[in-house]
Amino acid sequence: MFMKQRKLVQIIEKLKNIVRSEHVLTSYEERYCYSRDASLYWAMPDVVVRPHTTEEIVEIVKLANKEKIPITPRGAGTNLTGGAIPVKGGIVVDMTGMNRILEINRTNLIAVVEPGVVHEDLEKELAKHGLFWPPDPASTYSCTIGGAIAECAGGMRALKYGTTRDWVLGLEVVLPTGDVIKTGAMTLKNVTGFDLTRLFVGSEGTLGIITKAVLKVRPLPEALLRMSAAFYEIEIAGLAVSKIFETGIVPTIIEIISIECIRAINEWLKLGLPEVDALMVIDLDGTREEVEKLAGKVEKILKDVGAIEIKRATTAKEMEDLYLARRAAYPSTFRAFRKSLTVDDFCVPVNKLPEAFRLAREISKKWRLPMAIIAHAGDGNIHPIWPVDVRYPEEIDRVLKCHTELSHGILKLGGSISAEHGIGILKASLIEEEYGKKAIEVMRAIKRVFDPNDIMNPGKIAL
Ligand SMILES: Cc1cc2nc3c(=O)[nH]c(=O)nc-3n(C[C@H](O)[C@H](O)[C@H](O)COP(=O)(O)OP(=O)(O)OC[C@H]3O[C@@H](n4cnc5c(N)ncnc54)[C@H](O)[C@@H]3O)c2cc1C
Repeated sequence: MFMKQRKLVQIIEKLKNIVRSEHVLTSYEERYCYSRDASLYWAMPDVVVRPHTTEEIVEIVKLANKEKIPITPRGAGTNLTGGAIPVKGGIVVDMTGMNRILEINRTNLIAVVEPGVVHEDLEKELAKHGLFWPPDPASTYSCTIGGAIAECAGGMRALKYGTTRDWVLGLEVVLPTGDVIKTGAMTLKNVTGFDLTRLFVGSEGTLGIITKAVLKVRPLPEALLRMSAAFYEIEIAGLAVSKIFETGIVPTIIEIISIECIRAINEWLKLGLPEVDALMVIDLDGTREEVEKLAGKVEKILKDVGAIEIKRATTAKEMEDLYLARRAAYPSTFRAFRKSLTVDDFCVPVNKLPEAFRLAREISKKWRLPMAIIAHAGDGNIHPIWPVDVRYPEEIDRVLKCHTELSHGILKLGGSISAEHGIGILKASLIEEEYGKKAIEVMRAIKRVFDPNDIMNPGKIAL
C-alpha cells in the first residue's frame, strides 16, 4: 500500500463519483491482476479505475494531479519491459473499456479508434473493408492499439512497412494536467507545427493518456507468398538477410526462429518443422506476377547462401502453419522451458546479424542460461529469450547480468538496446549509454513540460 489508508478511502470515493462504482477496483485480488505485465517486475496499485470516456479520464487525471498521486495507463499488460507496472503505486487506469472502432474510411485510407481496441479485432474489421494496418505485434490476440502506440510496436511486417510511428496520423491525448490536446490531423499529410504525434508514439505512457487515434491504413495486397528455409547455422540465416537486400529485394517479412523454438513448437503444435539450427520464414506481397518473380530470385539467393530446405507454402493450411509457427514461438518456448520468460529486444545493422547471434549465444552460455532466439531478422531485430524462475532472486540476477552484458555488446556492434519493446524499467539504466547524458537531459526537460508533478507513469525510461 503506497497511499495512506485515510487518503486512499477519500480518493476511492472521489473516483466512484467519476466512473460507475463497479469500475473502481479495490480488492487485493483485483489489484493483484494489475500488478504484473509480461516482464519480470511486480508492484501493486492502490486502486484500479476503468474509464469509458475521455471526460472520465480528464476528471481522473485532474484528481491525481491535484493530489500528486502516480497514475499508470494500461492496455492489455503484454509489454515486456515493465512499462505497465505501477512502481510507485497509485492509480492504474485500465483503458480496455474504451474499445470502439469509431470510423473506417476506405476512401481516405484512415481508421479512427479508441485506444482499448484489441489489435486483432481491428485487423479483422479492417479486412472486411479490404484494408490493413501494418504494425503487427505477435501479441495481436490481446494487445491494444493504445499500448502499441505507447510502445511504438513493430512486429513482422515492419520490414516492408515500418513500425507504429509510421502509421499514426493523429492523436487525442489527456495530458497529466487534465488538459486535452489534439495532435496531427485526419489527413495523410500534415506539418502544422512540431510533430507531437511522434513524440507520444513510443512515450510509454509517461507524457499523457491516449484516448483516440487516427491510423493510416492500406488496401490489402492482391497476393501474399510465403516460404520457409532451413539452415544448419543461425549465423548463415543472418547472412542470408543481407544477401537478399543486396539484390534490391525487400520482402514483407523475414523472421528467424532458433532450434529451441522449433523443437518447442513441434512438441506442442506438431507442425513437423525441420529441426535445424534456424528456420527462416519469408513473406512477399504485391501483385501475383510480382511475388512470383521475386520468390524465384529469393529462392536462388537462399540456395546460394546455404539454405538446406527451401519450401513455398502452396496451400492455405501450409501458409497458416508457417505463420502459426512464428506467432506461437513465444508461448511454445514458455511451455517448453516451464518457467517465466525474459524476452529481450535489440536491433543491429542487418550486416551484423551473424555476429549478434553469436554474441547472444556466447554470453548466455557464460551465464549458464539456456536461450532461444526469435528475430524479426529483416529489421536486424533480435529477441533472445531466457527462462527465469522469478521466485529465485539469484536466477533473476543472472538473467539481468546476462542482459546487461549483451546490451553492451550490441551497442558496440552499432546497435540499439530497444527495437520495439521500449525501455520501461528493464532498460532504464542503459539508455544513457546509447544516447549520452545530454539527450537524456532533453528528454527529462520534455517530461517536465508535460508533467510538472511527475505523476504520469513515474519511474520509467529513466525520466
Ligand atoms: C507473446 C508476446 C509477443 C509480443 N510480440 C511483439 C512484437 O512482435 N512486436 C512488438 O513490438 N511487441 C511485441 N510484444 C510486446 C507488447 O505486446 C506490445 O508492446 C504491445 O503493443 C503492448 O500493448 P498492451 O495493450 O499490452 O500495452 P500495455 O502492456 O498495457 O502497456 C504498454 C505501455 O503503454 C502504456 N499505455 C497503454 N495504453 C496507453 C494509453 N492509452 N495511453 C498512454 N499510454 C498507454 C502503458 O503505460 C505501458 O507503458 C509482445 C508481447 C508478448 C507478451
